[in-house]
Amino acid sequence: MSNSFYDLKNEVHWNPITGCDPDPISLGCDNCWARRIRSRNLDGNGDSFAPQFHPDRLDAPLHWSKPRIFPTCFMGDWMAVDHRWSAIVMEVMWRNSKHQFLTLTKRAENLLQKLYWQHRGQGNVWLGVSAENQECWNQRAPFLCALKELGWHTWVSLEPLLGPINIAPGPGEWITKPDWVVVGCESGPRRRPCNTDWIYNTIEQCRNLNVPCYVKQIDVGGRVVKDINDDLGWRTATALMVRQYPKEFGQ
Ligand code: SF4
Repeated sequence: MSNSFYDLKNEVHWNPITGCDPDPISLGCDNCWARRIRSRNLDGNGDSFAPQFHPDRLDAPLHWSKPRIFPTCFMGDWMAVDHRWSAIVMEVMWRNSKHQFLTLTKRAENLLQKLYWQHRGQGNVWLGVSAENQECWNQRAPFLCALKELGWHTWVSLEPLLGPINIAPGPGEWITKPDWVVVGCESGPRRRPCNTDWIYNTIEQCRNLNVPCYVKQIDVGGRVVKDINDDLGWRTATALMVRQYPKEFGQ
C-alpha cells in the first residue's frame, strides 16, 4: 500500500496551512492523526499543532504541468484557522483550474459562512466534511447540502467511523447528495472499534444513491486492514473491496 490517502495515481499532498484549534470539536478529534504526525516530526518543541500559514508553499500546484489531485491542508483543519489564510488558499486553488483540490473540515458551518461567497461552485475545488457518527453528520450535512445547491462539488469522509451513519435519513429528506463518500475505521495505537456492518451499510447506501464510494480501511478483529483481499474470505473481500472515484478524478 502506498502512503497516499486514496491510492490516486496522480495524488499530491499540499499543506499551505497546518494545525488546528486546540479545543477538540468532536469525538473524531480524540486520536487526531495529523496532530500525532506533527508532534512526532517536531520533536515535541512548543505547540507543534498550532495553526500555521506557509506562504512559501502556495505556488506548489503551479509546478505541476499535468493535472493532479491535491489533498489540501490535510495536516489540520483549514476551517479552524484565520479565514484570511483559507481565502488565500481558495484563491490559489481557483487559479489552478487544471488540478482538482480536495479539502476537508469538521467545521462545515465555516465553509458556508466564511467562504461560499468567494468563488461560487468552482468545479475543481471539492469541499469536504468529515463525520464520525450520526450526531456529527446530522449537524454538518445541512451545510454541505447548501454548498451543493450553490454549485460546489461536495464529498464526505466518514472517518474514523465510530458508529453507523445514515447519510440519507429517508425518502424526501435529501435536498441534494454528496459527489463522493469515503469511509474507514480508525487507525493508530488507541483506535476504537468499527463494526464491519457499518461499512457494509455505507456501501449499500451509496449504491442506492448512485454515489461513488471508497472504502479506505476496515477493522478486522481489532486489526486495521487496508489491502482488502482474499484472506478475509472471498465473499467478505468482494463485498468490501469498493474503491470508486468520481469521474472527474480520471482514475
Ligand atoms: S478537527 Fe481535524 S485536524 Fe482538528 S483536531 Fe479534530 S481531527 Fe484533528
